[in-house]
Amino acid sequence: VRIKLLGTAAGGGFPQWNCACSNCSGLRDGSVRATARTQAQAAISFDGAHWSLLNASPDLRNQIERAPELAPHANGTSRNTPISSVVLTAADLDHVLGLLALREFQPLRIYSTPAVQQILRSNSFFRMLERLTGQSRWVDVLPEQSFSPEVPANGSSIHPIALGGKFPSYASGPMTAELDQAVMGLVIESGGKRLAYAPALPEAPDSLLQILESCDVIFIDGSFWSDDELQRSAANMPAAREIGHLPLSGNGGTLERLSGLKRPRKVLTHINNTNPILNEDSPENAQVRAAGWELGYDGWELDLKA
Ligand SMILES: [Zn+2]
Repeated sequence: VRIKLLGTAAGGGFPQWNCACSNCSGLRDGSVRATARTQAQAAISFDGAHWSLLNASPDLRNQIERAPELAPHANGTSRNTPISSVVLTAADLDHVLGLLALREFQPLRIYSTPAVQQILRSNSFFRMLERLTGQSRWVDVLPEQSFSPEVPANGSSIHPIALGGKFPSYASGPMTAELDQAVMGLVIESGGKRLAYAPALPEAPDSLLQILESCDVIFIDGSFWSDDELQRSAANMPAAREIGHLPLSGNGGTLERLSGLKRPRKVLTHINNTNPILNEDSPENAQVRAAGWELGYDGWELDLKA
């Protein structure tokens, strides 16, 4: 199975257009050693020919253009794409807005929980994906029920795991009062290899650690270093945990909970622009690396052979 990280920043990207934090300012003026990142996006392929997108970021159009694997075949029909499906892990705008960049009448399968599908399809914008019969086929994803994002499956399989968490603020209140399964993690399996993709990790119970320990590579939420990081960046901002992101540092944080995993290669993605690990000369960056983690970057890729 091949995986390519097309984007590795949290919502807003890095730098973020309206942010003058030390990371964003330092990246702009060159005083901080760091790498710009687009909003979190991944693509996987089981056969090297067909690709599934993991979520659909607001930067998707440019991310596709920068990935030669995802270009239409020049000798194909005038409209074609190697992208056959999109697998959504949540309804947050930084995970779904890119669907609207895929509205050019292309047949696609869109996999999501019934809750995420209901939230999106209640918004008239997303009807642009359904203008033609067969343009978009929504497929229900249920926790613990493996599915294949490819037809035929050819041995490919994705196992969804309910991670808890909350629906995004635009979908809070009566709209989601009766819904659950806000945030999913994905375990991608092929030829005996296993990858886990969890760009949002609200909590890390022992049951999840067991699953992650069975994987060869894990891609994990690296949004925030500390719980109060956003609160220190501006007034009236929420804590990391309140918006469904376990911080990396501190008691019960991701480093403490997951660094002991022995089998998997550990890669952080969905890194918020305020996170000090983005500064490659920071002590936090050194601490993350010393704990055995890599920072995902745009273009990071891996071909995990059976
Ligand atoms: Zn910033």
